[in-house]
Amino acid sequence: MIMTENATHPELHDFPAARLSVEHVTKTFETQGGRVVALQDVSVSIHEGEFVCFVGPSGCGKSTLLNIIAGLEKPDHGKALINGTPITEPGRDRLVMFQEHALFPWLDVIDNVMFGLKQKPNLNNRERMEVAKYYLYLVKMDNFAHANIYELSGGMKQRVALARSLAPNPKILLMDEPFSALDAMTREQLYGDIQDIWQKRKKTIIFVTHNVREAVCLGDRVLLFSPHPGRIREEFAVKLPRPRNINDPALADLSRTITTALKGYDSEAD
Ligand code: ADP
Ligand code: MG
Repeated sequence: MIMTENATHPELHDFPAARLSVEHVTKTFETQGGRVVALQDVSVSIHEGEFVCFVGPSGCGKSTLLNIIAGLEKPDHGKALINGTPITEPGRDRLVMFQEHALFPWLDVIDNVMFGLKQKPNLNNRERMEVAKYYLYLVKMDNFAHANIYELSGGMKQRVALARSLAPNPKILLMDEPFSALDAMTREQLYGDIQDIWQKRKKTIIFVTHNVREAVCLGDRVLLFSPHPGRIREEFAVKLPRPRNINDPALADLSRTITTALKGYDSEAD
């Protein structure tokens, strides 16, 4: 059985990642309160295997940009490209993980993870089971393979959701505030685990959060958004060694600098 570091299936030794570019993307919404410019002329390049965090207050277009990259929304102007190809629709090369876990309550843990592998024609059922077990091991849920979803805590559900997102081996993992409904202690454990998983699976990750420390703890780069209109205002490279601990004083220092920058955009709007 494949449950350990010594996993042998070729599927598990394939490390696809992708580079991404967003070029002059503008997106507006018509709402009852009028026209909202969710994104205005946003450009960014993300290289293969990079871990990038989008940070900013709510309403500054973070989810909109993530959804455009996911292929769930279309920009009014500009485009997003994956490995140079314009993104026009959702694809298996990109998987999204939301704050809400969206697991199927009628399936047990391993069947939820295997569900994402249904569309892999190169795997038979036994291999799907092995791959699913490997990812459950990676998220430290291998002892709960046959548990029901309702028996799990919030943190455990997010671990299963992460295993399900990782199992089809996407090139990019898009995470929209995946930990924001969890308590601080659970989140801290997940910060360590997600860094470990990212280093093992070498994925390109875009992680959206409004929590500055979380962004500094996880990202190679932190992109700062501001609202009305939604824009990327600044970026910070995070050079701190990994694995990072959220309570590291150097991490707290950089978080303070970033928070000050974010507050500065607020006062401009007044
Ligand atoms: P964030 O994720 O940073 O909180 P969003 O991307 O969700 O921000 O939203 C940016 C702006 O666009 C907000 O003002 C929001 O109300 C608006 N918006 C987002 N999606 C829609 C939509 N489907 N319909 C109307 N307005 C939307
Ligand atoms: Mg959002």
